[in-house]
Amino acid sequence: MAKKLNKGQIGVTTENIFPVIKQFLYSDHEIFLRELVANAVDATKKMKALALSGDCKEELGDLKVRIELDEKKKILRIIDEGIGMTEEEVDKYINQIAFSSAGEFLEKYKDQIGSIIGHFGLGFYSAFMVSKKVTIDTLSWQEGAKPVKWSCDGSPEYEMGAGDKKERGTVITLYLDDDSAEFAEKSRIEGLLNKYCKFMPVPVLFGKEQEWKDGKYVDTDKDKVINNIEPLWAKAPSELKDEDYNKFYRELYPMKEEPLFHIHLNVDYPFNLTGILYFPKIKERMAVERNKISLYCNQMFVTDHVDNIVPDFLTLLHGVIDSPDIPLNVSRSYLQSDANVKKISTYITKKVADRLEEIFKNERQALEEKWDNLKLFIEYGMLTDEKFCERAMTFALLKNTEGKYFSFEEYRKAVEAGQTDKDGKVVYLYATDTEKQYAFIEEAKNKGYDVLLLDCELDSHWVNLLEQKIEKTSFARVDSDSIGNLIRKDDKVKLEMKEDERYDLENLFKAVLPEGNDYYVTGDNLGADEAPILITQSEFMRRYREMSALGGGMNFYGEMPDSYNITVNMEHPLVAKVMAAKQAEVAPQGELPAEAPQDASDAEKEEARKAREAVREAHKADVQAFAKGSEILHQITDLALLANGMLKGKALSDFIARSRKVVEDAYL
Ligand code: ADP
Repeated sequence: MAKKLNKGQIGVTTENIFPVIKQFLYSDHEIFLRELVANAVDATKKMKALALSGDCKEELGDLKVRIELDEKKKILRIIDEGIGMTEEEVDKYINQIAFSSAGEFLEKYKDQIGSIIGHFGLGFYSAFMVSKKVTIDTLSWQEGAKPVKWSCDGSPEYEMGAGDKKERGTVITLYLDDDSAEFAEKSRIEGLLNKYCKFMPVPVLFGKEQEWKDGKYVDTDKDKVINNIEPLWAKAPSELKDEDYNKFYRELYPMKEEPLFHIHLNVDYPFNLTGILYFPKIKERMAVERNKISLYCNQMFVTDHVDNIVPDFLTLLHGVIDSPDIPLNVSRSYLQSDANVKKISTYITKKVADRLEEIFKNERQALEEKWDNLKLFIEYGMLTDEKFCERAMTFALLKNTEGKYFSFEEYRKAVEAGQTDKDGKVVYLYATDTEKQYAFIEEAKNKGYDVLLLDCELDSHWVNLLEQKIEKTSFARVDSDSIGNLIRKDDKVKLEMKEDERYDLENLFKAVLPEGNDYYVTGDNLGADEAPILITQSEFMRRYREMSALGGGMNFYGEMPDSYNITVNMEHPLVAKVMAAKQAEVAPQGELPAEAPQDASDAEKEEARKAREAVREAHKADVQAFAKGSEILHQITDLALLANGMLKGKALSDFIARSRKVVEDAYL
């Protein structure tokens, strides 16, 4: 049969459109395969629809898409049994529409083409990114249709004429460019098909199944199907069991630990979206992997960067979202402002909250068992998403140091009676380390108080948030003050101390405390039975330091030295003994020279100031000399340091030597 060839000009305005495409889309060449397979799948689906509606009476059988690769000749074929195209259709869809719209598109987005790569499917046209020549052989399903052959070598000119295709469908043949030789490798094509076509809705065949024979893998006769045409998210949730979801998770992430919970998303109004999200086990923020959610469009992989589609905290989840309503061919910044995308984002957040609430209500035990691995996710969500935070107030849990879990409401009820202070605030006591803060925790428990365990990285931020969200509540770490001060039941009469007494007290202790920290020394009457010295760290200072260390701004606090409150229990007999000894051994501070009169010169004022300072310093030196020589003072201070895990190095070994002597004196 003689072929009549028509030559024509493709409807492109830019003469050299192909070099432009190649250059601009260089980094994303691989998407050509997705685009061509997607077209083949579409044509197949349309064929099935025609059979279903009765427009086509033919028995279709199992339609499939086949990929063939000739590694040597560098030819790649995408073959389908879909609706095919008539000559008019090739002219309309390929010569006119496809090319001209791509031309317009490039013209319009010239400046931002870099940012839209990966979101814009170039369609059939993308074949030219990797080929020096592309041909279409097609036969339409319509009765009496004639086969068509179309070919183009990358110039704006094409050839079209009668073809010789016998079966319905389309074959796209790519003559791969020398600089795209990578796509002539079987493993590369297999990799791409796995990435982009793994869940396409029509079987995609590439190569043969293999079997182990005579010590090596050999091809069998059986075609290898690349994809799972009915992925789990496309099925009805009512038909599925937990194990189906777990199995699918393993299919998606073969190397990952079992997820905690899953959510099946399924909505068709006001937008279309299906998907399955999994809560992974998260123990440490630093170890969190983002971008584990893949976005699909009608089972065609689009991207695994969904950060513009879902709120930040949800990017911690794993899974799949499939929606034809997320615009793909736009820039990322546009995506965020798109009304549909906003609705989708709100919907997903709501669904996640709904699911967690449902688990809280119906699977409380499972929630408690998995809470420690889920907590970071929930806290992060509460801290970053206002709406989610409101919802989470009902299902978030608190865990106490005994390992018991409470909802916020339950906890309030449990501690309200005992832990309300004189101002009507309920004080939530917490520890961050049950070993290090053991003594403080015990002290609180002995008083009948409950102590929470907040040992997660985000807890200091979270605690701040909860203080704002839960009315009349404050959080205090057990070691941030004496327990009596943490939950004040009555107005306390402050211990009156004269200024020079206080000054001596401060110098006494600073002389024996480790250097490098700030200390704020005060005397207090804690009772003769309590410890002689209490070392605490102000809740406020500590919390802000931690927050700034986590990158929550407020660097000012992060740069300050560690500061501690030293509360000296003036009622303790050992303290009384030290004070009495100091009184006896250290001469009182000498009379301070008079201050310079108002009208004195600057030099005279400076001289008078120095003279007063010298008297103070001399006394301070006396106090310090006494302190350094006082065994009791060293011993009681070291005990307090030891209780806080602050006694180290030489100070620790000195303490042990001193203590041994004390024990020897007592027993030998
Ligand atoms: P899009 O798929 O986004 O419409 P393309 O450039 O990929 O853009 O394809 C243009 C048109 O060409 C398609 O809409 C379809 O009508 C037709 N077409 C492309 N590939 C095939 C195919 N394998 N079988 C039938 N028609 C096809």
